[in-house]
Amino acid sequence: MTIKITKTTHPAAKPADESKLGFGKIFTDHMFTMEWTKGEGWHDAEIVPFGNLSIHPASTVLHYGTEIFEGLKAYRAVDGRIVLFRPQENFARMNRSAVRLGLPQLDEAFALEALTELIKLDADWVPHGEGTSLYIRPFMIGDDEHLGVHGATHVRYYVILSPSGSYYAEGIDPVDIMIEDEDVRAVRGGTGEAKCGGNYGASVRAGDRAAAKGYAQVLWLDGVERKYIEEVGSMNIMFKIAGTVCTPALTGSILPGITRKSIIELLRSEGAPVEERRISLDELIAAAQDGTLEEAWGCGTAAVVSPVGRLAVGDKIYEINGGKIGPVTQRLYDELTGIQWGKREDKFGWVYPVK
Ligand SMILES: *Cc1c(COP(=O)(O)O)cnc(C)c1O
Repeated sequence: MTIKITKTTHPAAKPADESKLGFGKIFTDHMFTMEWTKGEGWHDAEIVPFGNLSIHPASTVLHYGTEIFEGLKAYRAVDGRIVLFRPQENFARMNRSAVRLGLPQLDEAFALEALTELIKLDADWVPHGEGTSLYIRPFMIGDDEHLGVHGATHVRYYVILSPSGSYYAEGIDPVDIMIEDEDVRAVRGGTGEAKCGGNYGASVRAGDRAAAKGYAQVLWLDGVERKYIEEVGSMNIMFKIAGTVCTPALTGSILPGITRKSIIELLRSEGAPVEERRISLDELIAAAQDGTLEEAWGCGTAAVVSPVGRLAVGDKIYEINGGKIGPVTQRLYDELTGIQWGKREDKFGWVYPVK
């Protein structure tokens, strides 16, 4: 499929002060779009000036949440190249999410090619500052223009780009997280392992409650027994218990994070064991009490790793590693960001150059 390119006649001014970028607030000059119709498949691949969408008020996505998305970043590497981190994984995951939501499959190679074209066109928007990146948001919506609930017959796919600031502009500061014991995020057989908007819609209330108590995020428990650790709001979770790194197994209700996968591959390549298994809240509390809970961190594209300083379970607060980032967390952060910014050898071939 060829990509029709229509350049903007009104390029926006690039942000002058990269320290004020924040996350997901400003967008580049262009976006990618294509359409899918049943029978015809994907067509009308285009790069167009960034702008509002026009959508029918009965559009499926507005009523039934037929939406999936991805999140990845383009980095300006130290050698001047613009690179992505394992983008093939994002499109493979998007196709798995699409299956769950009854949305069509992307041609993964074409999706990557289209993304590359878009980034090349808006390359000047990739910020230069330490820790900054161009956040990439591909998303797909069901867009049938009538109210019946059914598999999508008309779908749209978009990619938008947002120059974003350093997640750790003030240095890596451990976060406090709260165990959520009322709402649940996902159950097996539901949409927990799909990256879909609906999972987030259902998590907003718990997030707001945690924020009101001064916690950065909630840590979700399994939706059935409410005994086992699942993941944080938009990150997977890992612990170091008595010297061994462990993380909840992907049982169907947890998002299979690419950062999670990369950390596991990295540690195992060094011969360090990583346990993917069920981790109960009871086990975690016992480990916190007897001092064997040595480190805890969230992991995801946005933060890479985010050390957990305190864990709140009801009225009890457990401090981890004295509320400071631990050595394994720090090393994983240094190694992953080192690969992403081209400061460390890319032994695994994870870096994908755009230009
Ligand atoms: C995207 C996401 C993650 C992290 O995945 P990465 O591929 O590492 O960015 C974890 N949990 C949820 C719920 C997510 O949506």
